[in-house]
Amino acid sequence: MAVLRDPLTPVLGAKSAKALAESLKIETVGDLLRHYPRRYAERGELTDIAGLELGEHATVMARVESVSKRTMRARRGSILEVTITDGYRKLTCAFFNQAWRANELKPGKTGLFAGKVNAFRRTLQLQNPEYELIDENAGMSTVDEFAGKIIPVYPAAAGMPSWSIGRCVQQVLDVLDREDEPMPPELLARRGLSDLFDALHNIHRPASWESLEFARERLKWDEAMAVQLIFAQRRYSAVSRPAPACPPKAGGILEAFDGRLPFELTAGQREVGAKIAADLAVEHPMNRLLQGEVGSGKTVVALRAMLQVVDSGRQAALLAPTEVLAAQHARSLREMLGELGQAGELGGAENATKLTLLTGSMPAKERRQALLDAASGAAGIVVGTHALIQDTVSFADLGFVVVDEQHRFGVEQRDALRSRGRDFTSPHVLVMTATPIPRTVAMTVYGDLETSSLREMPVGRSPISTTVVPVAEKPAWLDRVWQRIVEEVGKGHQAYVVCPRIGDEPAKNQGDQRPALAVLEVAPELEAGPLSGLRVGVLHGRLPSDEKDAVMRAFADAKLDVLVATTVIEVGVNVPNATAMVIMDAERFGVSQLHQLRGRVGRGDVPGICLLVTEALDGTATRERLAAVESTTDGFELSRLDLELRREGDILGAAQSGKRSGLKLLSLLRDEELIADAREVAQAIVAEDPALGTHLGLAHMVSEVVDADRAEYLEKT
Ligand code: ADP
Ligand code: MG
Repeated sequence: MAVLRDPLTPVLGAKSAKALAESLKIETVGDLLRHYPRRYAERGELTDIAGLELGEHATVMARVESVSKRTMRARRGSILEVTITDGYRKLTCAFFNQAWRANELKPGKTGLFAGKVNAFRRTLQLQNPEYELIDENAGMSTVDEFAGKIIPVYPAAAGMPSWSIGRCVQQVLDVLDREDEPMPPELLARRGLSDLFDALHNIHRPASWESLEFARERLKWDEAMAVQLIFAQRRYSAVSRPAPACPPKAGGILEAFDGRLPFELTAGQREVGAKIAADLAVEHPMNRLLQGEVGSGKTVVALRAMLQVVDSGRQAALLAPTEVLAAQHARSLREMLGELGQAGELGGAENATKLTLLTGSMPAKERRQALLDAASGAAGIVVGTHALIQDTVSFADLGFVVVDEQHRFGVEQRDALRSRGRDFTSPHVLVMTATPIPRTVAMTVYGDLETSSLREMPVGRSPISTTVVPVAEKPAWLDRVWQRIVEEVGKGHQAYVVCPRIGDEPAKNQGDQRPALAVLEVAPELEAGPLSGLRVGVLHGRLPSDEKDAVMRAFADAKLDVLVATTVIEVGVNVPNATAMVIMDAERFGVSQLHQLRGRVGRGDVPGICLLVTEALDGTATRERLAAVESTTDGFELSRLDLELRREGDILGAAQSGKRSGLKLLSLLRDEELIADAREVAQAIVAEDPALGTHLGLAHMVSEVVDADRAEYLEKT
C-alpha cells in the first residue's frame, strides 16, 4: 500500500518512475495523483481539433481519414502522411521512414494521437506523433483498459503520452491507502465536499460526469486552501513583526498641510486616509495595496500618510518605477508641500521637513548629499526608484515606504524591506497601483496585502474617447489619424505617439511577425511626412536621465507639440494640455497597459482622444482585447474583461504543459466565492495554529499543491 508522500519507484518500478520524473517532474505518489487530466474524451466521441494551439503538446481522439505515402528524393526516405479528423477539421500526422505504420493506421480506425502541434504549409500537423488505437472489435480499448466511458487525457510530454500516464495512475490508485483527511471535517460537511481519497479516484477514473464534478469541486478547495494558507501565514508573520508606531500628532506638519490643501478631499480619499492613519499608528507593519484609477488622487493620500510618519520623527520613502517618474514625483510633492517641504531653506516653515530626490544617475556630488540626507535623517521624505531599497542606501529611521504605480512589487521586494527600519523593525508599506485588480486576483496574487480602492474621481477629469484604427482593413484611416493630430496641435493642444520599441537595438526576430514599430524610426518619418512643421520630441528609457528630464520639461512647458515615446510615459506623467494619444502596434501592449497609457490624456478640461493603431485582423482574440479597451474607460470593468480574455495560465504565469504548477482546477473568474470562503477559513486556522503544527495533513497539502519556492510565481503577473 502507498500514501501520497511515498516515492513512485516501489509502486511503478524504476523505469516508469524515472520516466515520469524526467519528463514531468513527477516524483511521488502525490505528485502523480495531483497531475489531473487536462480534459476527458468520451468513448465514441472525437476531440475538437479547432481548440488546438500551435506549439502545444496535444492529445486528441480522432479518426484516420486517409493515408498517403511519398518518397523524398532529397533526403532519401519516405513520408507517411496520415490525415486524421474530428469529423469537421483535419490534422496531418507525418511519419518519416515508418511506412509500415500504414498497416495499423487504416482509414476508419479511431485512437488517441499525441504530439507537438506544428504548422506546415498552412495546415496543422503532428510530427512523428505517438498514438494508441482503440480496438473496437475487441470491445475493449487498448488505450486504457481501465477507463470507463470517460477517458482521461493527461497533460503529456514527449515519451510520456497520456495513455502511459493513465496506466501509471491506475497502478497507484490500486494501492492507495486511505489516509487521514487533511481538510477540517466541519468544512467538508458545511460545503458538502467529497473526501480526498474519493476525489482523487473520481478525478482520474470518473464513473460519470457527476462524480467528476464532485471530485473537481473538492480538489478546487485543495488549491484555494493551499494558496490562502500560505498567504495567511505570510500575513501572520509580517504582521507579527515589530514596526514603528506613528500615531497622528496634533499641531504637526500633517495638520499644517491639510490646512493649506487647495481642494476638499473626496469621500474615498478621507475613508482610505483614515484606514491608513490607523494602520500607521500601531506597532505592527501595515501592508496595504491602494488601487485607484489614474488621476483618482492616490498621491495626496500617500503624501498625507508620509507626513503623519514625519510627525513621529521618522522618515518616509516614495519609490517610483523609473527615474523620470521619481523626478516628477519629487517636483510635484515639493510643489504641494510648498514651504512645508523647505526645511533648512530660506522661507521654510517652522515645522517643515526636507524632501530629497535620490536616483542612480544623479551627479556624484548631489548623490552624496542625498545619501547623507537619508542617512542622517535630515530628509523626512526621500523620493527615488527601487534602487532606494538596495542595501547601499541607509536611512536614519525609515518608518514608511510608499511604492507608486508598481503592481509588480512582489513578495521578494517587500521582503527586502522587512528589516530596513531602525532596530530591525519593518517599515509600514503602501503599494499603489492604477491598474485595478479583480477581487479574486487581489486575493490570490496579492493575498498578503490588505486592499483599498479609490473609486470616485476628484473633479476635473475629462472623458477620453478611444477608437481602434484597423490599418490592415482600412489603411486610409492612418492618414486621418495624423490629420487629427495636426488639428489638435492647431487648437493649441499636444499629443503623444507611443511605439513598442526604442529602435536602437537590433530588431529581434519574432517568427513571421515583423519587428514592432520603433520610436527612433517613427519620429523622423512623422517629422518628414504627415507631421512636418510640428515640433516633435523623442523620449525613451535609454536616454541619459538629464536628457529625459529636459524633454519631459520641454513637453510640459508646451515647447514640443508631439512626443514620440515608449511606455516610459505609461505612468504618472501629467501634462494637462496633452489631449491626443496615438498608440502604434497597439496589439503589442496589454489591456491594462493601454488603459494606463490613455490615462495620460484628458487630464485637463478638454476631452481626450486615444487612437489604437493596429494591423490585427477583425475576429482575432487580439482585436477583441482592443475592442474591450475601446468599449469602456472603467478600469474595474476593464480588468474583469481582461481576465475573461486572457487564458488563466497567463495570469498565474506558470501553466506550461507538463510542468507542475499551482492552480489547475481553480478559476479566478468563476470561483470568487470559493476563494473568499477559503481565505476566511485559512485565516481562522492560522490564527490558532500559525505553523500548522496540529494540522499536519494541511501542511503537507500546502507543500504538495503549491511548492514553497513556487509560491513566488503567484506574484509574477
Ligand atoms: P493618481 O496618483 O491617483 O494618478 P494624483 O494624486 O496624481 O492621481 O491626482 C491627480 C490630480 O488630481 C492631481 O493634480 C491632484 O492634485 C488632483 N487632486 C487630487 N485629489 C483631489 C481632490 N480631492 N480634489 C481635486 N483635485 C484633486
Ligand atoms: Mg500617480
